[in-house]
Amino acid sequence: MILISMKHALPKLPYAYDALEPHIDAKTMEIHYTKHHQTYVDKLNDAIHKPEGEKFHNMPVEELLININKIPESIRTAVRNHGGGHFNHSLFWEWMTPHAKDKEVKGRIIDAINKEFGSFEDFKTKFNDVAVSRFGSGWAWLVLNKGKLEVYSTANQDSPLMDGKIPLLGLDVWEHGYYIKWTSNRKGYVENWWNVVNWAQVERLFDKAKK
Ligand code: MN
Repeated sequence: MILISMKHALPKLPYAYDALEPHIDAKTMEIHYTKHHQTYVDKLNDAIHKPEGEKFHNMPVEELLININKIPESIRTAVRNHGGGHFNHSLFWEWMTPHAKDKEVKGRIIDAINKEFGSFEDFKTKFNDVAVSRFGSGWAWLVLNKGKLEVYSTANQDSPLMDGKIPLLGLDVWEHGYYIKWTSNRKGYVENWWNVVNWAQVERLFDKAKK
């Protein structure tokens, strides 16, 4: 009998490399997607296709992250870093858009943000603060934590799923995400990123998580 197991794969980028110019430059987008994201995918596949990863061959990446503590110790760090990297980046491409209509700040998610954080500007300030102050590499997040909106950050490629939280919006603050255009100015990158946020996608994830 031939066992066919699932290989994790790079998702299709929903726009061209230069579609988010001038906010996200084409060169960064191309390297980020074809090199960094591809490496997470490849190394995740390497890890779970080791003999001790057999039980996890066909598990979707979300499940791997939710169940990270059940992964055999010898491959757990690789799954954490590369599974997290694969999942975070798959979401990240969808959290940005060149389409003006999808960037409109409206809907139930905005009502919920206003209610939780006082105002949309207060939410952004808090998000920017955690994004800029995350030491080293990581991500800034808007998540649902037990039904409540929360802003926080994680180190490296750790996913909110590992903390039992549902990611609604995330920003990659690894230097590879901004250094070509912004060099050491992470704050400039973070503040400018709001110009490309796909609020229609955040709204979809919020609705799905609320069901
Ligand atoms: Mn990245």
